[in-house]
Amino acid sequence: MIGRRFGGTRLMRVSAGIVAAALVSGCAAGGTSPASSAAPASSPPVPVKPQQKAGPPGVLPRPGEVKAIAPAGSVLPVISSIPTTRKVVFLTIDDGWEQDPGFVRQVREQRIPITAFVMRDAVEALGAPDPAGGVGKYVGRGKWSYFRQLRDAGVPIENHTLTHPDLRTLGYDAQKAEICGSSKLIREHIGTRPTLFRPPFGNYGAGTLRAAKACGVEALLLWTATVQPGGKIAYQVPDKRLRPGDILLLHFRPNLARDFRILVDKIRRRGYELGNLDAYLKAALRRAK
Ligand SMILES: [Zn+2]
Repeated sequence: MIGRRFGGTRLMRVSAGIVAAALVSGCAAGGTSPASSAAPASSPPVPVKPQQKAGPPGVLPRPGEVKAIAPAGSVLPVISSIPTTRKVVFLTIDDGWEQDPGFVRQVREQRIPITAFVMRDAVEALGAPDPAGGVGKYVGRGKWSYFRQLRDAGVPIENHTLTHPDLRTLGYDAQKAEICGSSKLIREHIGTRPTLFRPPFGNYGAGTLRAAKACGVEALLLWTATVQPGGKIAYQVPDKRLRPGDILLLHFRPNLARDFRILVDKIRRRGYELGNLDAYLKAALRRAK
């Protein structure tokens, strides 16, 4: 019941239960999905707005634009998309293996709004990198300093566990160790405490929600579409179109800067803007600013 979006069910909360691995695969298991976009030829070009010179990157919600997430019923909100009718989508990037300095420059100079979900073993290049994106030149090159540079470019650094396990296979204490351990490490190296958690592969259960809450997380963040090498969008909806409020998932993989240019062009050609996820979540969760 969770993680997929059908019809009008744009945003979901969970009370309990185990989530099937129904999401288009995130992270290491993905990369070869046959579902990819073909840009509709009928989309007229949309002029790109002048870039912001100050303030957080990405468009901010207008008053009353974002529907609220009902506060009752679940340990933590589980969010796959933002409830808005505005043509705005959100970019999130996971893991952290490939640490290309050119991508930091791109994010900083173009003020592209992204949210990073990092996991320790990728940031510190422990073990074998995610093979889905090919061999990278910058695996583990900057480690945590790379993500401090992204932080300085306005990128929130959020929690994606220490070792990228399938959390459904772990007991509560082991899940808590993964999530709290990651938050502690991010706080030490980045200086901020994560408020968002993305479970590896999108897999989680009731214990995950309790563990994440115990670690200070305010929401579980899933996604509605993945972006494959080459900037192709793999949708989780049958009609293969972007929808207002979609959350897109990318990875720190080789050629990210190039793929990003292609993707951002595609999003803008379709008349969408890039939103500031933190501001939209605040509006959806009615958090105090
Ligand atoms: Zn991942």
